[in-house]
Amino acid sequence: MGRLDERVALITGAGSGIGRESATLFAAEGAAVVCVDLDEGSAVATASSIEQAGGRAIAVRADVSSADDAAAMVQAAQDTYGALHIMFNNAGIMHSDDGNAQDTSEAIWDLTMNVNAKGVFLGCKFGIPAIRNSGGGSVINTASFVAHLGAATPQVAYTASKGAVLALTRELAVVHASEGVRVNALCPGPLRTELLMKFLDTDEKKHRRLVHVPMGRFGLAEEMAKSALFLASDDSSYITGSEFLVDGGITAAYVTPE
Ligand code: NAD
Repeated sequence: MGRLDERVALITGAGSGIGRESATLFAAEGAAVVCVDLDEGSAVATASSIEQAGGRAIAVRADVSSADDAAAMVQAAQDTYGALHIMFNNAGIMHSDDGNAQDTSEAIWDLTMNVNAKGVFLGCKFGIPAIRNSGGGSVINTASFVAHLGAATPQVAYTASKGAVLALTRELAVVHASEGVRVNALCPGPLRTELLMKFLDTDEKKHRRLVHVPMGRFGLAEEMAKSALFLASDDSSYITGSEFLVDGGITAAYVTPE
């Protein structure tokens, strides 16, 4: 018995990092998975490896910041599997030109907000009615520990976009609680994935981030996938509107041990 037997899950950003690990784990736990990514090849690679392992998956190319694409990805889940129970709005970007307020351009602000905040809104806009029509389920929105803490290495657009994800998640959780739709945010700490390693592109920048993590290491995408599985499954049946911090202790720390 899998923890997600007979469930249909849609995961955005499924071509890489947290999304790919979650797609693989959700499928291993019995879910049929709609693997969505802007990069079609990487979505196909995730879906193919799930199928090779005996699981059920399809790949869909979509830009989560486009309403047409977001509607189409949810429709693909319903057309292929007849339902939607789990919506993991996980796709996100962290642009290397995102910095302090003075230096960050309007274009970088708009791009980041469009993908990270509007993308989650659109996923909820089309995903929640589909989940409600399928008898209820779970929405997971990927935020970040930076929505809780300010960093001296600034990325104002990214940080603001993740704050928006938390506020949106809280409100939708309240609105849809009586309909059997739970809505929670996953707040990863700093991870050893492509996204952050590209941003922290020198040993000094990596060290500056790591000194704040009590566990003294970057987290792994697999560790986020396990946390997302908890939020997706009935194991978290009384949890909604929460901010699930999975961060090696970074938000708990005032001073970390030498
Ligand atoms: P990643 O870069 O490995 O994967 C992100 C995926 O999203 C990529 O496959 C990319 O092609 C896809 N994507 C980007 N823009 C898209 C769009 N417009 N439409 C559809 N897909 C799009 O990143 P990751 O580390 O796995 O991050 C996943 C989520 O976790 C993001 O929301 C990120 O902000 C968040 N997060 C990451 C960290 C970290 O340290 N890596 C920490 C906290 C939060």
